Amino acid sequence: VIKLSNIKKSFKENEVLKDINLTVNQSEVVVIMGPSGSGKSTLLRCITFLEEPNGGIVKLGKMEVEAGQPLNKKRKDTIRELRKNTGFVFQQFNLFPHKTALENVQEGPIVIKKSDPETAKAHAIELLTKVGLADRMDHYPSQLSGGQQQRVAIARALSMEPMVMLYDEPTSALDPELIREVLQVMKELAREGMTMIVVTHEMAFAKDVADRVIFMDGGLIIEEGSSDEIFNHPKEERTKRFLQDVT
Ligand code: ATP
Ligand code: MG
Repeated sequence: VIKLSNIKKSFKENEVLKDINLTVNQSEVVVIMGPSGSGKSTLLRCITFLEEPNGGIVKLGKMEVEAGQPLNKKRKDTIRELRKNTGFVFQQFNLFPHKTALENVQEGPIVIKKSDPETAKAHAIELLTKVGLADRMDHYPSQLSGGQQQRVAIARALSMEPMVMLYDEPTSALDPELIREVLQVMKELAREGMTMIVVTHEMAFAKDVADRVIFMDGGLIIEEGSSDEIFNHPKEERTKRFLQDVT
């Protein structure tokens, strides 16, 4: 579904992504780990051109965008299409504070996809029920716990029926007792075949759900493999050191 070829990104002299190549298949769950500053968030942002890479090609389904090309209409349309097909869940939940859970979830399809409001509402109710918030639809974000807000954010991302979900440390702003409910929802989605890339330090989740674990450091993919390969038999020194530090 996703193919990243030779993605490079620098901020001034700081080379944050050096040459990233990554293919993610349909229904695959890829977990990305790595020390702070290794470029994980930048990589996710480059996939949707929230950050324009300095070089490389992003492919999602039939869409293809090459970095550094002039921003003409066709390219703008493709980037918009790319974003529509990508669900992004951030560490901070980024909900609209003055909208209820239901309004947060139905907004995207109505405004961006021009869906019929009744259909969008029915779909939003279905999604909120799925993430366990059937009884919280009319609550505003400030009336919800962090874990509930994050589940609304997941439902909102799903409302656009994306081809892939990108998660950037979705549980790291949450209290420990709320982490589980968010991971549980993500796990359920993975089980249903959602393609996803997840930046997280939750080892248990990675062991349980990841088809593939990627270890990044210094803007490079240092090592990738099954969770067993990466956690129990890491080959690279840097991976070993990182695992010692986090466990
Ligand atoms: P963390 O685990 O702390 O979230 P990360 O692996 O997600 O780290 P990034 O956020 O991708 O790391 O940052 C990688 C590097 O890029 C860092 O050195 C950071 O300072 C730099 N960086 C990221 N975004 C910008 C920006 N908009 N402008 C300048 N430098 C940036
Ligand atoms: Mg980050």
